[in-house]
Amino acid sequence: MFTEQLSIANSRTQLQDTLLKDIFYEGSADEYKQATEQAREAVLHFLEHNKQPFSGVKPATIKAAVAAVNLDAPLQNYEELMAEVYDLYIRHATAFHLPQYIAHLNCPVVIPALAAEVIIAAINSSQDTYDQSAGGTFIERRMVEWTCEQLGFGDQGDGIFTGGGSQSNLMGLLLARDHFAWRKDGVNIKQDGLPPQAHRYRIFAADTAHFSNQKNASLLGLGEQAVIKVKTDHRFRMDAAALRQLIEAELAAGNIPIAIVATAGTTDFGNIDPLPAIAALAAHYQLWLHVDAAYGCGLLLSGKNRHLLHGIELADSVTVDYHKSFFQPISSSAFLVKHRETLKIVQHHADYLNPAEQDYEELPAQINKSITQSTRRFDALKLWCTLRLMGKEKLGMYTDKMIDTAAATAAALQQDADFELLSDSDLGVLVFRFAPARVVADLSALNLSIKKSLFFDGTILVASTKVKGEFYLKFTILNPLTTITHTREMLEAIKARGFELIG
Ligand SMILES: *Cc1c(COP(=O)(O)O)cnc(C)c1O
Repeated sequence: MFTEQLSIANSRTQLQDTLLKDIFYEGSADEYKQATEQAREAVLHFLEHNKQPFSGVKPATIKAAVAAVNLDAPLQNYEELMAEVYDLYIRHATAFHLPQYIAHLNCPVVIPALAAEVIIAAINSSQDTYDQSAGGTFIERRMVEWTCEQLGFGDQGDGIFTGGGSQSNLMGLLLARDHFAWRKDGVNIKQDGLPPQAHRYRIFAADTAHFSNQKNASLLGLGEQAVIKVKTDHRFRMDAAALRQLIEAELAAGNIPIAIVATAGTTDFGNIDPLPAIAALAAHYQLWLHVDAAYGCGLLLSGKNRHLLHGIELADSVTVDYHKSFFQPISSSAFLVKHRETLKIVQHHADYLNPAEQDYEELPAQINKSITQSTRRFDALKLWCTLRLMGKEKLGMYTDKMIDTAAATAAALQQDADFELLSDSDLGVLVFRFAPARVVADLSALNLSIKKSLFFDGTILVASTKVKGEFYLKFTILNPLTTITHTREMLEAIKARGFELIG
């Protein structure tokens, strides 16, 4: 019956209008306006009423509420819809903009990017080909070029927006693997698959590097075993001398080093591996150097702290997560290469989309640079709007502000006898634990209890990690609104909870 009604010839009956009102088209502009206004009201309500980073709701409660919805009984209007979404989701959503959210690498987002999201979603360009994106292709390309400039890549750089750092890191290792096999043995892995010696390929990354490197090695058919973990120094940065020894040891064992992954801003400590020393080893052993700057990329924009990324210009490829350190809504990430021809290896021609005979200078197609997405969002518009309205300097000052807050917080932790701080940070991550002078049987269990109980109060969301088998709390300061007053208050609350728990 539905299709029958839709096919009623040209006359715009009222029934037809009802059927069409949910489609975004020139006849539904009022509906669109109403719907987005309601959605915006819900968001404003969230800003006004969510004064804690989390409601403390238990998973079982939300699970039951979501399960109870009858999906076959649609609601009547946007008021009802937004009320339901509010109850099921927004009311309990994590509020990343509050300083008391100090857990993971989630940033508060900037408003120009939110305005861009409205446009991106409605117009719904797809970045794979020019005929689906038009200006979007060139805006993305400008953002890639601009990022390459910030990296110091010269004018031969290129890249592509991706869904996130894990995906960008995958591209880095894929290029490393395929270029190595081609250069060394004339093997075309894209075409012919892995050569028999591929199980001997080795990738070097610090033991503090992101876990996506292991997952990616596995996806690339090399196995997680291919990733050799390099030990770190007292500040949890890759030890370059140990890297050299490990490369030598793998060579001596008949294995085949292909790449080094250096991290600029580790997830757990916010520190930066010694990029110049690592780059020198990569050059010496002719290894691909991928720098994972998913977190540390914010430093690119800082006048005061840019020097911390010295050496990043020597990388073959780099990961940046704009959705971490450029305050962009998820998702927004990019994979950048220093030499644009290296990216050609991922091209695959499909007759219906990007045929081999097409002139891509004339009619560009970003799909030629993308491995894991064909249909792809126009995320670059968010960064464009952010830069055009706020400018690079202001974003850089946000990063400087967070670094200052982290340094002051590190000093506060060091001065407090009830806390143990593991390392200072180049960025904003501090790993520490409550360790009062009096004897506590199990510090790991105690700190875990502190974290959990604060989480279910919803008052402070702090992260955690394990170092040498011991449980530690972790502050990730990724909010320029967070001040030393906030972090001091949180430390006091953590301490008070700790003393309460030991009775
Ligand atoms: C967050 C992070 C990643 C993964 O990025 P996603 O965008 O979450 O996929 C990779 N590397 C580092 C150092 C990170 O901090």
